[in-house]
Amino acid sequence: MTDGEAGIAGIRDSFGRTHTYLRLSVTEACNYRCQYCGPGVVHRGLSDDHVVLLCSLFRSMGIRTLRITGGEPTVRPGLIPLIVRLSSLGFERLALTTNGTSLVRDARALRKAGIQSVNVSLDAVDADLYASLTGGFPVRPVLEGIGAALSEGLAVKLNAVLLADTYRSQVRQLMDFAGKFGIPLRFIELMPFGDGARCEGVSTATLVAFLGEEYGEEASVCPPQGLGANSVSKGDEPWGSGPAEYRRFGGVDVGLIGALTSCFCSRCQRLRLTNEGWLKTCLYHSDHLNLSELLDRGCSQDEMRGRIADFVLTKRLRHAFQSGPVEWPLSSVGG
Ligand code: SAM
Repeated sequence: MTDGEAGIAGIRDSFGRTHTYLRLSVTEACNYRCQYCGPGVVHRGLSDDHVVLLCSLFRSMGIRTLRITGGEPTVRPGLIPLIVRLSSLGFERLALTTNGTSLVRDARALRKAGIQSVNVSLDAVDADLYASLTGGFPVRPVLEGIGAALSEGLAVKLNAVLLADTYRSQVRQLMDFAGKFGIPLRFIELMPFGDGARCEGVSTATLVAFLGEEYGEEASVCPPQGLGANSVSKGDEPWGSGPAEYRRFGGVDVGLIGALTSCFCSRCQRLRLTNEGWLKTCLYHSDHLNLSELLDRGCSQDEMRGRIADFVLTKRLRHAFQSGPVEWPLSSVGG
């Protein structure tokens, strides 16, 4: 690597993709037991000091957006003080992906710590359906948590995964809820990870046909209304270069993430740092660089930057879901 190959513009791979976005998993543990997911093998994981050190390296290499995820990130002890430290590193956008169970308690502290936006996973609004999808959990605290996050001024997006047996009810409930609160609603195609490989998902094409019949499509707005001009999501998961294609149905900005049926790898700008300290360039492929080991070996920061840049150059062109499922659940990589 020469100076400038990895710089403030982001980290480039051999296909010219520039990486400015890092998903940081802070735990593989999760309090939920969703039908299509499951907790990953829980490792002791990186210490707070190592998380901060690695994130500062990535920041110096041009990563602009840091999204904290898991597992369920809010079950990591000491998450808020860790976010305060991450926030001081100067990322342009600091975001969190959560199942929302702790938002009533934590929304204010998260905002004060520096979180600007939260993506809340919400697969249903009806209490019974939600419980059956999540392994018995109540939906009410999550709905209240979304309200708390909005009251704090956090930008909120909803993420939902649909299952073939229940998708019609899921979609109707979620559209009502998202419409009432003016929140963008994103549907993520089920990917064959872990238990997800044994469930039947819903393709984006099927979903779009259903949305069209039920609600009718309106001219889309760019950016989606819930992600106004000050949106912290711009450049993060935008309507241009990110995975979601935004369309408008029934007054709701609907993000379609065709993770399986429409490959967006050619636009992928993401890197992932697992709780174990592995850098991954793709959700699917198992290729990784063990940064934890490099830290333990006492590598200098320059050496680490060089290893990271070289590893990103090996990023593959695209996923290979068509070759078969992946045995680990998404929660072990940082979904
Ligand atoms: N616990 C947090 C949450 O619930 O948002 C963060 C981690 S969770 C793994 C992140 C997202 O991945 C959730 O929206 C979840 O529904 C989604 N997910 C999990 N397994 C999936 C799969 N096999 N295919 C598609 N999405 C999946």
